[in-house]
Amino acid sequence: MARARDISLSPRPTGIALQTDIPICQSDLPLDWYQDEFKPYAEEYIALPDRTPEHVIPWLDRYIQPALDHFGDSLLLLAHYYMGGEIVKLVEKYGGKVADSYALALQASRNPEKKIIVESAVHFMAETIATLANDDQQIWITNPKAGCTMEMMAKDWMVLPVAEELIAKYGDDLLVIAYMNTSGRIKALAGQTGGAVCTSSNAPLVVDWARKQGKKILFVPDEHLGRNTAAKLGLDATQVCTLGDPLTHTVSWHVEDFPTDSAEMICWGGYCGVHTVFTPQQVRWWKEKDWQVIIHPESKLEAVLEADGSGSTAYLWNTVMEAPAGSKFAVGTEGHFVRNLKEQALHKGIEVMHLAEIDGFDSSSAGCGCATMSRNDPPHLAGMLDLLRKGEAPDINRVLAGDVVDEQTADRLRLSGDERTLMVANAKLALERMIEITEAAT
Ligand code: SF4
Repeated sequence: MARARDISLSPRPTGIALQTDIPICQSDLPLDWYQDEFKPYAEEYIALPDRTPEHVIPWLDRYIQPALDHFGDSLLLLAHYYMGGEIVKLVEKYGGKVADSYALALQASRNPEKKIIVESAVHFMAETIATLANDDQQIWITNPKAGCTMEMMAKDWMVLPVAEELIAKYGDDLLVIAYMNTSGRIKALAGQTGGAVCTSSNAPLVVDWARKQGKKILFVPDEHLGRNTAAKLGLDATQVCTLGDPLTHTVSWHVEDFPTDSAEMICWGGYCGVHTVFTPQQVRWWKEKDWQVIIHPESKLEAVLEADGSGSTAYLWNTVMEAPAGSKFAVGTEGHFVRNLKEQALHKGIEVMHLAEIDGFDSSSAGCGCATMSRNDPPHLAGMLDLLRKGEAPDINRVLAGDVVDEQTADRLRLSGDERTLMVANAKLALERMIEITEAAT
């Protein structure tokens, strides 16, 4: 359930420290995955003797330290918990902050003195920061090809025709709730329909707010967060329907194929490949050994119902770190996060395992990390800061609200100034409604 302490508006240091003898082992990306401007940094990185801090840190210092000196207090480095542990450690080492998507979203507006904000995470997170930023703040992403696959299943050109059909059918009785993992354009759709944004921690509060108005809800994009939230609020299966595969809707399904009339919640059919690997059998296996199981609500309902608790990354982190010594947790979420948590919890005498790491089960996905987020690696961080300092940063790395990015080519479609102003106004409405609903409940 959403709890006040889940909402980390001011990210606390994770406490994760670089250890001299442990390699910075993030796998190297192929050289042709780098933008031309970043290739020289990648070539130097690849040529280092190894990935230990002994070699990586002096190389990073050459580029990052001059940028820190140049920008001073106006620079803010950000990363999400799901980044490869090494980037999390590096961003914190250079004075940056690590947080979940809700806290990241607020970092520009809550820190108006920061004018250059460099994000190592996925694109929708940078775009949400840009949506809430002031006009004199610039948001940059270290790799524009780092997209969230769930967000990619709910591009505006996929969702808008379906939403229009539903609005034609139900009029003002329908509103859209957009999970944080959506583009600004989908958040704007939520704002336009009187709806709101939600995160994994406040989804029950936001859905409850909509139901109290007697509204039918189009929940975009995560089917599983939608079903888990509905179950937490006591809705039964007949009150929830999930639309078809978002990638095939123009060819193989239509809104009238689904029982939307009887449904209170209509879920878009997107999902996260990292979180849908967890099964009820895995949960039971750990519980039978007296381990507590906590899991992220982007996982399947059947697995979440078996677990001891579910919630956002902040909930998962805090639940483990605040447990008494001797506790044992199997944690169902992204692999890099669990590895970092395991390392920290060990200092407090708490054991942590990844939920899918079970001998005898099909563990092909065990420890599965968010591969697209991890496209932000040390050469991208060094290159971005060095290019910014020299005034040579490619415009394609600049994130403006309303941008649509092709994650294969990194091409960026920008709205015109007027279109962006309107989009930002609607997306802000949806974000501000979420903030009001959440803060009213704390
Ligand atoms: S873990 Fe899944 S939902 Fe989260 S950013 Fe990665 S792809 Fe998106």
